[in-house]
Amino acid sequence: MANYDFFQNRECEYFPCHKGADRENFNCLFCFCPLYTLGGDCGGNFTHTKEGIKDCSGCLIPHRRENYGLVTGKLDKVIAFVKKKD
Ligand code: SF4
Repeated sequence: MANYDFFQNRECEYFPCHKGADRENFNCLFCFCPLYTLGGDCGGNFTHTKEGIKDCSGCLIPHRRENYGLVTGKLDKVIAFVKKKD
């Protein structure tokens, strides 16, 4: 592991912002998950609200210390999505 792949903000009013999270290894680096835009292809444990909004509150994938490479490894898909939108 490198020093740039993990960050915590324990002063955050919501830390740790997911139930059942491991406080010691909870990574705040991807506070807003960069994979959200991939919709159903993000690979996470999302649900949908009754209004149809993607709900990530049950997903710890971007917050696990060991998942930095998993998240950044999918950024090419995010970039391709954004390029398609332009
Ligand atoms: S937090 Fe989890 S479910 Fe939500 S976009 Fe990221 S990987 Fe997908």
